[in-house]
Amino acid sequence: MKFDADIVIAGTGPAGLLAALALAQAGLSAILVGPPVNTGDRRTTALMKPSLDFLDGLGVLDAVKEGSAPLRVMRIADATSRLLRSPVVSFRAAEIGEEYFGLNIPNRNMLPALDAAVKANDGIRIETSIVAHWQPLEDGIQAELENGKIITAKLAVAADGRLSPAREAAGISVRTASTGQSALVLDFAHTRPHDDTSTEFHTEHGPFTVVPLPGMRSSLVWVSRPHRAEELKALPDAELSRLIEERMQSMLGRVEVSPGRQVYPLNVTLPARFAANRIALVGEAAHVFPPIGAQGLNLGIRDVEGLVKMARRYPADPGAAAALSYYDRLRRPDIIARSSAVDLLNRSLMADALPVQFVRTAGLNLLGAVPPLRNFFMREGLRTGAGIMSLFRERGPVARFRSE
Ligand SMILES: Cc1cc2nc3c(=O)[nH]c(=O)nc-3n(C[C@H](O)[C@H](O)[C@H](O)COP(=O)(O)OP(=O)(O)OC[C@H]3O[C@@H](n4cnc5c(N)ncnc54)[C@H](O)[C@@H]3O)c2cc1C
Repeated sequence: MKFDADIVIAGTGPAGLLAALALAQAGLSAILVGPPVNTGDRRTTALMKPSLDFLDGLGVLDAVKEGSAPLRVMRIADATSRLLRSPVVSFRAAEIGEEYFGLNIPNRNMLPALDAAVKANDGIRIETSIVAHWQPLEDGIQAELENGKIITAKLAVAADGRLSPAREAAGISVRTASTGQSALVLDFAHTRPHDDTSTEFHTEHGPFTVVPLPGMRSSLVWVSRPHRAEELKALPDAELSRLIEERMQSMLGRVEVSPGRQVYPLNVTLPARFAANRIALVGEAAHVFPPIGAQGLNLGIRDVEGLVKMARRYPADPGAAAALSYYDRLRRPDIIARSSAVDLLNRSLMADALPVQFVRTAGLNLLGAVPPLRNFFMREGLRTGAGIMSLFRERGPVARFRSE
């Protein structure tokens, strides 16, 4: 079979753009298919240190971090009105020897910066179109584009989002469910400094998360019932500003919302496999969950790192069955662990049952009171396995063995 490229990537969201850059940097020829990049996305993305290191390795960090702000402290505040409530838990990057956990980056800066890097890369051919039909074959895969072109490659990367037509073409089944929530996103100005601190207020309807932007500005993700999110979106500026200030108990002083509000319906989606039939899933094609603890794209970036590992291990045919099952094994533990943890925490917020509330508040109480446990969670939050490794390094069997 004659190939147009080693790899065809579908999707021009952050996962697709990063996959194209990383695979081209690894020396593979890539074709990226997707619509023009979305420049109207009002969300911001908190990218943690390991993700920033990855972007740095691709040579795009300086451009991407334009307009971002550091996250030095991350706080969880129980804002439920239930019988059992936990105290505020603060995680400080300095406690684990880091200057900051990550950066909060406006998507309207990040996506055009990644797009520009893709366009400047000679190893990437861009097709501004949509894949209309996939045909997995014995030796490769064929993509028929809406612009009439037909592309063949050894591997297809499905970075085509939560509904992922490529995932369907691979015959991969998914478990998907609405969480009965939507997220209202917007930016706002305030009169008191945020001190590089993000605060996730946990409410009965989901998190209300305030994340720093440069200066006296912050971004907000307000998760609530879908009809309530739409109501909030339609409110006059002054009324919405007042409600946001009230929610935060004037923590940041007076609030003034900026123009540009968007509502994102939330769901949970988990595929049965992460690769099959010459198609590997990355980003939201591989996992969707509510925005708690800034996990989504950080996990998507680790998918891309996994793709590169797979392509390096199977250079002759990165779409072969052995390569795909390697990728599936590589990504499964991380994706399942993160998806389940976020889903569980989200459900525990909404469940009224007393035993559930007891477990949730006891967990947060422990985190607040026990520094080694907090350190463990901070390291695990940054990178899977890092918390466990630090236990071994600092006070676990390896450290004990060395000191004996
Ligand atoms: C409110 C909110 C806040 C969030 N905050 C954070 C955060 O702080 N930190 C974090 O890490 N994550 C966060 N996330 C998660 C993060 O936004 C997602 O993980 C990320 O946007 C997923 O990117 P993606 O490229 O996989 O998908 P998408 O951005 O959905 O891109 C999919 C692309 O595929 C294209 N496409 C679809 N079908 C086809 C086809 N047939 N052919 C070609 N192209 C196709 C689409 O047009 C689109 O370009 C948040 C999510 C939400 C909802």
